[in-house]
Amino acid sequence: MAAVLARGLARGWAARGPTIFSKIIARSVPATILYEDDKCLVFRDVAPQAPVHFLVIPKRPIPRISRVGPQDTELLGHLLVVAARTAQAEGLADGYRLVINDGKHGAQSVYHLHLHVLGGRQLGWPPG
Ligand code: C5P
Repeated sequence: MAAVLARGLARGWAARGPTIFSKIIARSVPATILYEDDKCLVFRDVAPQAPVHFLVIPKRPIPRISRVGPQDTELLGHLLVVAARTAQAEGLADGYRLVINDGKHGAQSVYHLHLHVLGGRQLGWPPG
């Protein structure tokens, strides 16, 4: 736990404090959970922007994608594999979109790294 906190401090996490996603991991805030393992949690987005919209988050509170380093390579790969497997389990055979919002210009609102997975309808491009 001390090591996790130290890593969080080093990444500026403690300056912002724990987010709503830490509370979902701790089960003090409810969510519809689709998958969990020792490294990540997958749950449905509470305000879905597509018929299927779920989030894949690391349990370690990395605040944003622009703060990751080489030590996160394996974890980030794991998140992508879990996203793809969950998309398959959700029946997204015609494709889907992965989105990571970063910072102000990326319209990030929760500073705990998360992958959005959106599908179940034809999505447009470019995004707004
Ligand atoms: O990428 P961004 O930070 O904007 O996305 C945060 C996402 O977290 C939103 O899509 C929001 O609906 C979702 N959320 C959630 N459950 C919460 C709070 C936020 O699914 N309790």
